[in-house]
Amino acid sequence: SKTEAKMALEELKELARSAGLNVLDTVYQIRNKVDPKYLLGVGKLKDLAIKAYQIGADYIIFDNNLQPSQAKEISKIVELKIMDRTQLILDIFAKRAHTDEGKLKVELAQLKYIMPRLSVKDDSLSRLTGGIGGRGPGETKLEIDRRRIKDRIAFLNRKLKQISKVRYTQRKRRLQREIPTVSIVGYTNAGKTTLINSLTNSSIYADNLMFATLDTSSKRLRFPEEKEIIITDTVGFIRDLPEDLKDAFKSTLDELYDADLFLHVVDISNPEFRKQIESVNKILEELNLIDVEQILVFNKIDLLDEESLKELKNEFPKAIFISAINRKTFNELLNRIFYILFRQKVKNGSS
Ligand code: GDP
Ligand code: MG
Repeated sequence: SKTEAKMALEELKELARSAGLNVLDTVYQIRNKVDPKYLLGVGKLKDLAIKAYQIGADYIIFDNNLQPSQAKEISKIVELKIMDRTQLILDIFAKRAHTDEGKLKVELAQLKYIMPRLSVKDDSLSRLTGGIGGRGPGETKLEIDRRRIKDRIAFLNRKLKQISKVRYTQRKRRLQREIPTVSIVGYTNAGKTTLINSLTNSSIYADNLMFATLDTSSKRLRFPEEKEIIITDTVGFIRDLPEDLKDAFKSTLDELYDADLFLHVVDISNPEFRKQIESVNKILEELNLIDVEQILVFNKIDLLDEESLKELKNEFPKAIFISAINRKTFNELLNRIFYILFRQKVKNGSS
């Protein structure tokens, strides 16, 4: 429907901004079926190409993922660089990855996405696969052949295996110390990084760009009675994550398996927040993590009026309402965490 198309484009726009692009315009076409050759109707595509050229765009980004053949056909009509949603997300991952593991995983995903497109033997290939500003494998590396790419993929896989072994021992050590672990999960832009920063008074990079955190990072949080917990931040979850990216994305969430408790942070100022809760839970389900205890943390109460807040509190009696930018709102949350991790644990006699 029209509203769905507009929502999807709003999200694509936000993704594009996260990739450092300035969005000049958006257009959509509602069809019963995508055009197998051009995605859009050919007339619409030509109009789009002319318009994009006239307003001085560098890229045309498609919300749908393009088949290699579609990309090739579209490139015959469109002079500008083209990109699909998967490439855009990979580009953001590439820009944000800061640990060895994150970088290896992104490169792996990028190479896997490019592989099937390598048979396309004309200049549209470079327009199809070059990342923004040459991030990722980019145009030059594309000249290496399939065989070299296969070798590189095998190399990256080996490297990644080594890294996860190291992480496994680190995790085991932590588990042996029996420090309870809390992981912050939630849709992208919910306020996860802001919350962990405010809670621990540290400065893990927080901004309003999506995917600011690709790798999970951990902090310590001290409670009364000399109790402490480990609290970990995670990358933002996102709706309709392309199938090709799921592995790369999920493997950045390894640490969730250590968690005794999730803080599921929700941006209640976003009108789509109910859907976002669902998508996060769906991913947790796919990861077999849906049974881990969750605290639903409704964030950004400063952006809502009294009346709407009241209604939400009635609708979600179990949720805890906070503003991650205001530590004074954390009392109930901290009490609940403390109760779940310590009182309850002691009561069950499980330590
Ligand atoms: P993440 O993607 O879940 O890690 O979200 P971030 O912590 O990066 O926050 C996304 C944006 O929301 C940033 O611009 C934050 O400053 C903003 N933000 C986070 N919490 C609050 C809040 O309680 N109130 C308001 N007004 N903005 C917030
Ligand atoms: Mg974050």
